[in-house]
Amino acid sequence: MSRTPSRRTVLRGLTVTGAAVTGFDPAARSWAATTPESGTETAALTRIPRLDGTLVTDESSLTAAAEDYGHIVHRRPSAVLRPGSVRDVVTMVRFCNDHCLPVAPRGQGHAPYGQAQVEGGLVIETATLADIGPVDPDSTTVTVGAGARWSEVAKATLAHGLTPPVFTDYLELSVGGTLSVGGLGGQAQRHGAQVDNVTELRVVTGAGEPVRCSPSRRPDLFHAVLAGLGQCAVIVEATLRLVPAPETVRHYQLTYGDLATFLDDQRTLVLEGRFDYVEGQVHTDAAGAFRVYSLEAVAYGPPAGPAPDDTALLRGLRHDPSTVQYTDLPYFDFLDRLAPVIAAMKDAGIWTYAHPWLNLMLPGPSAASLAAPLLDALTPADLGAGGVILFYPLLREHLTTPLLRTSDEDVSYLFDILSAAAPGDTAGIDRILSANRAAYDTVAAAGGTHYPVGSIPFTPDDWHTHFGPAWPAFAAAKRTYDPAGILVPGQGIF
Ligand SMILES: Cc1cc2nc3c(=O)[nH]c(=O)nc-3n(C[C@H](O)[C@H](O)[C@H](O)COP(=O)(O)OP(=O)(O)OC[C@H]3O[C@@H](n4cnc5c(N)ncnc54)[C@H](O)[C@@H]3O)c2cc1C
Repeated sequence: MSRTPSRRTVLRGLTVTGAAVTGFDPAARSWAATTPESGTETAALTRIPRLDGTLVTDESSLTAAAEDYGHIVHRRPSAVLRPGSVRDVVTMVRFCNDHCLPVAPRGQGHAPYGQAQVEGGLVIETATLADIGPVDPDSTTVTVGAGARWSEVAKATLAHGLTPPVFTDYLELSVGGTLSVGGLGGQAQRHGAQVDNVTELRVVTGAGEPVRCSPSRRPDLFHAVLAGLGQCAVIVEATLRLVPAPETVRHYQLTYGDLATFLDDQRTLVLEGRFDYVEGQVHTDAAGAFRVYSLEAVAYGPPAGPAPDDTALLRGLRHDPSTVQYTDLPYFDFLDRLAPVIAAMKDAGIWTYAHPWLNLMLPGPSAASLAAPLLDALTPADLGAGGVILFYPLLREHLTTPLLRTSDEDVSYLFDILSAAAPGDTAGIDRILSANRAAYDTVAAAGGTHYPVGSIPFTPDDWHTHFGPAWPAFAAAKRTYDPAGILVPGQGIF
């Protein structure tokens, strides 16, 4: 058989692997490739402009893009772009806009419910856009590629004694991925979410237009992208605010036997701004009931804060005094504290379990009464292997990004039941998804909402309700910047 490298063959989905995609058949809505083995010349192919990176349709790339951390939803794209440049993102989003092909950027694929998946469309893997620019000591900012992971950003900025002010608990998430949802952690009670600490974005709109936006430059786009769930533009670069980093931190764990007291002490701590970081978890007691509450608080040492004074920091708190634990840690080790836990979960084979997560924002005054029945009904088997319950306060005054929704109260609590289930247990997973929905309905009726990083079955009407007063500007931005409605259908918003 002769080799005809210049010819093109239409790939009906997946039949040829490892080939660079060079064309698109609009009638069949399938991609075409030039392959060394080649097939027959076909008519009516639209040529794809030359790319710096690669566009692939091989089996393993498409299968991987139809997976995520949840292992519940599977939507198979028709191609995956690994951009070699921002220009590639512009080229391919423009192309998909022209052909009404749906598109989803994918950072680290840690969304649990198909949010970064796209049936029959294009997934843009942002991991190749991971440059971390020089730290600017004058403006104390750094500009990073959307595919950079927060662990890499932390290491690069710490080399200059600086740090982003807020981190997620897990550092191996992409900057673009967390800025699309909000980015919360124990420092958010002091500095707001990660989205509240962005000074400028470089994005590619759904129409394929490259744009720089900030609070003063195209603010409608800036505010529609931060916590905007990928609906209006692909983030390709973000400029992040930096603050002085501590060298070490003191990490306290305080145990409570009463939910209302635990929440009240957390509230006191964040209103006073006593600690740099406040979170909390709920654990089981000896009888297997979720009735043990662990407050986690961290004080930064020099040069970001004074040497920690235990007496002053713990003054007036109502924890069980016999349970106080504290550890002094290098700052990066504190940020990266989940790394050994996650390595152990991977070794134990439970990292790849299904994750039907519930992430709620509870109004402060009713947080205890809303959470108590959910905790009473929960069993260790429901939470599953490696499951975790997080519970910590956020201050409305620091959460300024319009699309990151909380309750209207001054203090809201993030309440996460992070369940894990064996992937084959579809009945169990369906039961948890129904319970998630019921819990959301109760919380929404009480003035709360959800933090959209979980697995709650949601309709477009639910999203309208969720965004509340922010909806008209968000919907207008969607019409302006993604007129063909191609971006991120996996969120199910528009
Ligand atoms: C183990 C674990 C721990 C976590 N801890 C926290 C935590 O402490 N705090 C917290 O706030 N969240 C936490 N999360 C949730 C996490 O922040 C979100 O799921 C986040 O979106 C995941 O980032 P990613 O890079 O994996 O994004 P992906 O899952 O790849 O994408 C998530 C969504 O964002 C969109 N998106 C991705 N990149 C871009 C981009 N460049 N431009 C526009 N849209 C984009 C995708 O299309 C998709 O809709 C955690 C998740 C896991 C699995």
